[in-house]
Amino acid sequence: MALLTVDNLRTWFHTRDGVARAVDGISFQVDPGEALGVVGESGCGKSVTFLSLLGLLPSPPARVESGTALFEGNDLLQASPAELRRVRGRRIGMVFQDPMTALNPYMTVGAQVAEPLIVHGGLGRADARAQALEALEAVGLNDAARRMDLHPHAFSGGMRQRVMIAMALVTRPPLLIADEPTTALDVTIQAQILDQLRELQAQAGMAVVLITHDLGVVASFCRRVLVMYAGRIVESAAVEDLFAAPLHPYTRALMASLPGTRPAGARLTPITGRPPDPRRLPPGCAFAPRCPLATPQCHQTAPELKEHTPIHAAACHLAGEGT
Ligand code: SF4
Repeated sequence: MALLTVDNLRTWFHTRDGVARAVDGISFQVDPGEALGVVGESGCGKSVTFLSLLGLLPSPPARVESGTALFEGNDLLQASPAELRRVRGRRIGMVFQDPMTALNPYMTVGAQVAEPLIVHGGLGRADARAQALEALEAVGLNDAARRMDLHPHAFSGGMRQRVMIAMALVTRPPLLIADEPTTALDVTIQAQILDQLRELQAQAGMAVVLITHDLGVVASFCRRVLVMYAGRIVESAAVEDLFAAPLHPYTRALMASLPGTRPAGARLTPITGRPPDPRRLPPGCAFAPRCPLATPQCHQTAPELKEHTPIHAAACHLAGEGT
């Protein structure tokens, strides 16, 4: 049974300038213990999807227009703010790109990692501190026993990100959502942190949703991937299938634009044009203005996400036609 099942989620922003359809009718599931990548350019709706599930978007302007999100038998979209706080504290861990905005500069890192255990787990201070130390050691923070009494400003970017991961994992949640967790870090630290996360995931049997613009990161970390464009899922597949035979022109363009993910010998080609303004989405396929294969039908009718095999789906009129 799926751990998280999202059905027809629509999250729109109601602005003075019109309605921005940031997430526009997406459905997917996360299975226990799996590593799912959600990939797309910035503004495609990948972060908004998970922020709205966790009740972390300012409303107004954001509003969930439709959908259900079943997690452990409860619909997150119907949960009260207090219930969502509990879910975020114990059952769904979160790691964001910029740990500095998520860490409290006035508290020691040890106290911050211990806090969810005290607030949501009912542990006493000494037990919580012992578990916080274990979590900091598990994420590879050197000299954790001494460093846990320091404040975040004494830490490098990579160490702060390790602290964030320890905070997210200390309550042993069944699901971790990591939003661009390594984007701000240099490549070596990035690889170390992803390795650590992979190891922790395997040990704890935890599901991880990795939100990223980087298909290379998805290739190294995930088993399954959702590709998002203009608020919709345009392709969904096992990672090997996606790389072996991408069905959507946007996925192919993403691959061609990133070092390390394009086919051997192919040139690095940036994707031309820009994603559409979510307040003014075109009537047909949202990728049509940038798509080299667009036909008149593409400009008129939006393609549905269709399964081409039981585990590979794409939203493109030409998918599966040997394009
Ligand atoms: Fe390109 Fe048409 Fe497919 Fe959209 S539906 S991705 S415009 S070929």
